[in-house]
Amino acid sequence: MPKFQGLITSKLPSLGTTIFTVMSKLAAENNAINLSQGFPDFNCSETLTDLVSSYMKKGFNQYAPMPGVIGLREQIAILIEELYGTAYNPETEITVTAGATQAIYTAIASIVKEGDEVIIFEPAYDCYSPAIIVAGGKPVYIQLAQPDFSIDWEAVKKMINHRTKLIIINTPHNPSGAIISASDIAELDKLTHNTDILILSDEVYEHMVFDGQMHQSVARNKNLADRSFLISSFGKTVHTTGWKMAYVAAPENLMAEFRKIHQYLVFACNTPIQYALADFLKDKSNYLELKNFYQAKRDHFIKLVSPSRFSFEQSRGTYFQLMNYSTISDEKDTDFAVRLTKEFKLAAIPLSVFYHEKDDHKLLRFCFAKKEETLEKAAEIICKI
Ligand code: PMP
Ligand code: GLN
Repeated sequence: MPKFQGLITSKLPSLGTTIFTVMSKLAAENNAINLSQGFPDFNCSETLTDLVSSYMKKGFNQYAPMPGVIGLREQIAILIEELYGTAYNPETEITVTAGATQAIYTAIASIVKEGDEVIIFEPAYDCYSPAIIVAGGKPVYIQLAQPDFSIDWEAVKKMINHRTKLIIINTPHNPSGAIISASDIAELDKLTHNTDILILSDEVYEHMVFDGQMHQSVARNKNLADRSFLISSFGKTVHTTGWKMAYVAAPENLMAEFRKIHQYLVFACNTPIQYALADFLKDKSNYLELKNFYQAKRDHFIKLVSPSRFSFEQSRGTYFQLMNYSTISDEKDTDFAVRLTKEFKLAAIPLSVFYHEKDDHKLLRFCFAKKEETLEKAAEIICKI
């Protein structure tokens, strides 16, 4: 008998618990190696934890300013301008958030109204569509082309109409590991030119682009930067997914709307961590070295799994590798992922969960943000399947 006897009309009737929660729990229950949810199994820099603890001891423990500690916003502005060429005013155009998930939710809540359409590309990271629906908007899904997960700009053109309010892009792309090219950015610029369409650019893996490719941030293109919320996450960049710290950069008029929601959703974020991050980012190697660090992990993992029966295109960014198991089994990817966890003691994420119609491409996503020994143990299992 439920405690509440009244009627609850769910705002998200078809939504369950996120796959990351489900698979990490299943991995723990089955004592399986967890390459499902994306997080490192190694610690962040001790310099960073020492900085946080010193700021805590020094008494930086009360509310930060609503948009974030100014020293950190200044460092973020330097990072973006040096890497991508757009100058953001730290006072009015940068806000520190409690993770990219909150930044994405807030950006959507601040601009999407009843009946607005939002274009998202599938497979899509899972937090986009719920935020759109709660805001009263309608997600419009466009499939990325297989096998390289590229954007079909003709399809995008056909879907744009007077109700299109926002286009969400994500590069490097979770879950596929694909990256957007300079010509994709040029297409997006062309399509949105002289329209009121805004862009949300999820760039949380911005520092993990491999093989000498460049990260194509919207901040490399003046026209796009002028209509975009650019979002990145310290969880990825400094190996601290549990701290839930991220940021948004956007032109002043967009940021003013963002902050109206932000100030009542979280008000402000963790103070000592912001001071610590401001110091830590002054050493640029702390983010510039990340691509080499993760490329070495990708290469190591790929070498170890290459004798297996899985097939794959190597990841071009993020810390995820997709692998196809169609020569091993014709089970649904969700069933195969559960069996892999229970029988083989290895957890991964089935790709179909990132499609609203649960398209099954017989692909699993493995996270390689792990110690060498973890990757070696996981690869040993993969090669036995
Ligand atoms: N966007 C993408 C593409 C992600 O993979 C993630 C999580 N890893 C997020 C947003 C959310 O980041 P955060 O943990 O900072 O909320
Ligand atoms: N972004 C992480 C992933 O893709 C998961 C974050 C979460 O659990 N919400 O695995």
